[in-house]
Amino acid sequence: MAKELNLVHIAAGDLFRQAIEQGAELGMQAKSYMEKGLLVPDEITIGMVLERVSAPDCESGVVLDGFPRNLKQAEALDKALGEQDKAIDKVIYIKVAEEELLKRLSGRWICRNCQAPYHITDNPPKVQGKCDRCGGELYQRPDDIPEAIKQRLQVYFTETAPLIDYYTREGKLAEVDGEGAVGNVSERLTTALRR
Ligand code: AMP
Repeated sequence: MAKELNLVHIAAGDLFRQAIEQGAELGMQAKSYMEKGLLVPDEITIGMVLERVSAPDCESGVVLDGFPRNLKQAEALDKALGEQDKAIDKVIYIKVAEEELLKRLSGRWICRNCQAPYHITDNPPKVQGKCDRCGGELYQRPDDIPEAIKQRLQVYFTETAPLIDYYTREGKLAEVDGEGAVGNVSERLTTALRR
């Protein structure tokens, strides 16, 4: 989606996972929260994302993925963007039934190198255990186990879901049906963003 719209894709979870892979201090701070399915504290997360967003390659726009995840992060983002005369254009709320989410997360494998996601039955790689894009090794995220998934959903409902109202009030929310094939959902997303 970001590629099609010529924007930089920034996923907070990817930034954390890269930091863990590199053995960086940031990764060590985030790891235990991530494995339990909890949010990494705002003091760590907000600074990390805002720093990435203000890099020169983000000048003409970004797709933020997995950030903000609570009201404090949303307010910090609005404030930081406002100070640079920038603003969020659109927020996409991808709606998927809980049962389907469980199926997707528990069957997900991602590339250790480029973070590309696969699914054991719905989107398998051409060669088992290898990334189609870069040939990297595929692995199952430690937070894609049933216990952590349950915790993550709970965190979503208590901390992240209130952002639906927050961005509706700002007139920025677009709801997209996330059920169905990858290609169909991608098309719906791009249409919603272009609108
Ligand atoms: P994700 O890859 O988006 O599923 O994120 C994986 C994990 O990284 C989450 O369960 C959190 O532990 C952490 N994380 C990612 N984004 C955020 C965020 N915006 N705020 C706090 N923690 C986050």
